[in-house]
Amino acid sequence: MMQVVIARNVCKRYGATEVLKDVSLEVAQGEVLGIIGPSGAGKSTLLRCLNQLEGIDSGDLYVNGEFAGYRVGSDAFHQLPDAEVARQRAATGMVFQRFNLFAHKTVLDNVTLGPIVVRKATRRAAEAHAVELLAQVGLGGFEARYPSQLSGGQQQRVAIARALAMQPTVLLFDEPTSALDSELVGEVLDVMRDLAASGQTMLVVTHELAFARAVCSRIAFMEAGRIVEVGTPQQIFNQPLMQRTREFVQRATSPVSVH
Ligand code: ADP
Repeated sequence: MMQVVIARNVCKRYGATEVLKDVSLEVAQGEVLGIIGPSGAGKSTLLRCLNQLEGIDSGDLYVNGEFAGYRVGSDAFHQLPDAEVARQRAATGMVFQRFNLFAHKTVLDNVTLGPIVVRKATRRAAEAHAVELLAQVGLGGFEARYPSQLSGGQQQRVAIARALAMQPTVLLFDEPTSALDSELVGEVLDVMRDLAASGQTMLVVTHELAFARAVCSRIAFMEAGRIVEVGTPQQIFNQPLMQRTREFVQRATSPVSVH
């Protein structure tokens, strides 16, 4: 099976703080990998490195078989030009906690801008695709609205349509429901569940453990910059190999836990 994402011994520091310590991970095509763990574990940083919003200090990242950010020459690594980095980044569609829509652009423009600018799509083709994607996330008819006229759940669904418009190889979700009022969480998780069922490769950083358990094909538990354990939901939630995983899962799923 084709590995869409490969991280090998990735290290990342901010100043003296080691945020990712020797992180290695593989994600196959069509897989939905959940990433769980306490706050500060490095989960978001890992996604940001995969999306090339952050550089790494050592190790290798491959997306789609391409070495992220660099071309490997005969004698050295050459940093890719900006347009190439933009093309690579477009293969890793990112959905952020706080949506990050363009506030002064309509829903339709938010979804078509990337394909037109980065993928050189015609406006007509980009708009036709955007209308389809908006219908897919349950927002048919919202094309002319502005983000401020939408609920948080609707804005996040626009953000998912925007990411999909770039036809990404892998979608990266960075706690996509944690900024939402609780009654809006379900509509976003439903869209993500449909995407997972359609075979979209996804990495999902989430505190929604019930969702992760039901939808993810595998789950990685991260703590203090390391991947402690990767396994099926059954393994991670019912028979974790590592004591730290057991403690986290027990605490996070206990009825008295306070987040
Ligand atoms: P998580 O997503 O698991 O909560 P993060 O990846 O956001 O963890 O953060 C991991 C660690 O890196 C934390 O200790 C955080 O304070 C630190 N960190 C994240 N971003 C920065 C930054 N831009 N500068 C300095 N430290 C950062």
